[in-house]
Amino acid sequence: MTAQSPDMKISLQTPIRAPSAVPVDDAVLPFEVAALDLRGRLTRLGPALDDVLTKHDYPPAVGKLLGEAIVLTTLLGSSLKFDGRFILQTQTDGPVSFLIVDFQAPDRLRAYARFDATRLREGLDSGALLGKGHLAMTIDQGPDMSRYQGLVALEGGSLEDAAHEYFLRSEQIPTRVRLAVGEEWRGGEGSGPRHRWRAGGMLLQFLPKAPERARQADLHPGDAPEGSVTHTIEEDDAWVEGQSLISTVQDIELIDPDLSGERLLYRLFHERGVRVFAPLPLRAQCSCSREAVAAMLASFAPGDRADMVKDGKVVVTCEFCSSVYEFTPDEAGVE
Ligand SMILES: [Zn+2]
Repeated sequence: MTAQSPDMKISLQTPIRAPSAVPVDDAVLPFEVAALDLRGRLTRLGPALDDVLTKHDYPPAVGKLLGEAIVLTTLLGSSLKFDGRFILQTQTDGPVSFLIVDFQAPDRLRAYARFDATRLREGLDSGALLGKGHLAMTIDQGPDMSRYQGLVALEGGSLEDAAHEYFLRSEQIPTRVRLAVGEEWRGGEGSGPRHRWRAGGMLLQFLPKAPERARQADLHPGDAPEGSVTHTIEEDDAWVEGQSLISTVQDIELIDPDLSGERLLYRLFHERGVRVFAPLPLRAQCSCSREAVAAMLASFAPGDRADMVKDGKVVVTCEFCSSVYEFTPDEAGVE
């Protein structure tokens, strides 16, 4: 310990400045509200999200849901400190039966969804689009490290609900998540309004030094048999305040292209003081290649390769980025 007060130390290391008014898209901004023992991350996605979703031309409801999954993935995956991979996927019985987001540290994102167009209806929310099943989060640190997989049941709730469930059950870290996806139309030059996807999200965690302060109330107290005494847990005042602050964040604030992330954080936490760290940039980039597809074809049984020949060629489309790879039967190893 030094004689310096903690406040003094912080002010020497990081000068206090006004929040930047310049919006930064396609980045995760880590932050800290030390007075409340809160840590968090704020994601703003513009061109990178638009790139992923536009390649697939999804119906708007499917694009919005996949956008939420992408934002959630950036909030969770950007905490990886190694060149690993964070994969979020859902497998459910709803109209969107499968979705996957693959985040490769430090910055690469790709994603796709499978859906049944005949089951899509106007006004279905994320929970209804997914239906029941499970959400899996896999952390892959490379061939020499063990894979970690976390599973959460999806019971018709949103991806935000699933994230809360996961942190309550598995990590036992008090956590709140907000996700928002929107479509923006801006006047283009000559060709009419141009459509773009935008998204934003925030993750807030309560990380006090004393673990007993992190006790949480159960999300579903209704399971107890009738007549049993419900034991209530008093949540720490700092976490109660943190939850109430993040609950005031509007969807429009998360996706507004003209509101900078720093200004949004300042708007929320200025009374307590908020410190931001260097933003982590994100980009949409698939890792597929002609070589990788050729290697995959080579791993198939000769009969299966022969079955893939259509109109004298073998065509493979990447599900993530819709890139099309064409091979002659000879190149594809068909005898
Ligand atoms: Zn690809």
